Amino acid sequence: MAASSEAQNSGSPVALVSGGASGIGAAAAAALTARGVRVAALDLKPEEVTGPALGIACDVTDDASVRRAVAEAAERFGRIDIVVNNAGIAAQGTVADNDDEEWHRVMDVNVVGMVRLARAALPHLRRSPVAAIVNTCSIFGWTGVVNRALYSASKGAVQGLTLAMAADHVREGIRVNAVAPGAVDTPWIQRVLALTPDPAAARETLNERHPLGRLARPQEVGEAIAYLALDATGTVGTILSVDGGIHALRL
Ligand code: NAD
Repeated sequence: MAASSEAQNSGSPVALVSGGASGIGAAAAAALTARGVRVAALDLKPEEVTGPALGIACDVTDDASVRRAVAEAAERFGRIDIVVNNAGIAAQGTVADNDDEEWHRVMDVNVVGMVRLARAALPHLRRSPVAAIVNTCSIFGWTGVVNRALYSASKGAVQGLTLAMAADHVREGIRVNAVAPGAVDTPWIQRVLALTPDPAAARETLNERHPLGRLARPQEVGEAIAYLALDATGTVGTILSVDGGIHALRL
């Protein structure tokens, strides 16, 4: 593991994608590999990682697990340049509905999980000539939506965290940005729709709520993540909406 700085920066760039086995994370992994990046997908279910990405078992709520996964990726690839902090879980309800345990559980995955992965990867990112972190935020970070108190608080925290990290690390050569998707057609949304009495009607309602008239495709968010990570070399501390206009537009 104690490779020299030169060896660390040999070969094509390497990205870690948390939650890379499904949905937006899998799409980000695909977009990055299509650009020649070698990807380690860190997930609770590494066996579900597809494509050329390397699946590595990782629970972002467990610091030792995160450190092990980062060490394994560094050992395997010799360098780490990009972190996509994407693993996240849902929560529904008002402040009256979720108990303390649920608040701690969701904040632990959605917020502290990003801190753990960034913290473990930082020594590698500091050695990279093309270092970037992209966090997956949400329009729930800046749009008030009923019954989403806990989830919105977690994504609001990710927004603040993104800006603070961007300020802390920009002079170390690490660009930190985030994407803020609206509803994206991933297994997550499919699970939510399946709980409604009429999933097809609920999907249509959700489509209509977006000015584009449809949910985002996971690939669209994956492309935005790859853009921020690789191409947007002048962009730092930006939260990029990929939300079909739902936050900014009123038709
Ligand atoms: P998804 O459920 O399809 O995938 C989430 C992945 O994260 C899964 O592979 C899961 O195993 C993994 N994961 C969950 N907990 C983990 C943990 N503790 N450690 C490691 N991996 C873990 O969800 P998705 O829709 O692709 O969502 C990904 C991210 O996008 C989340 O942060 C979510 O908040 C955000 N987001 C999703 C939508 C949407 O509409 N789908 C919209 C805005 C933001």
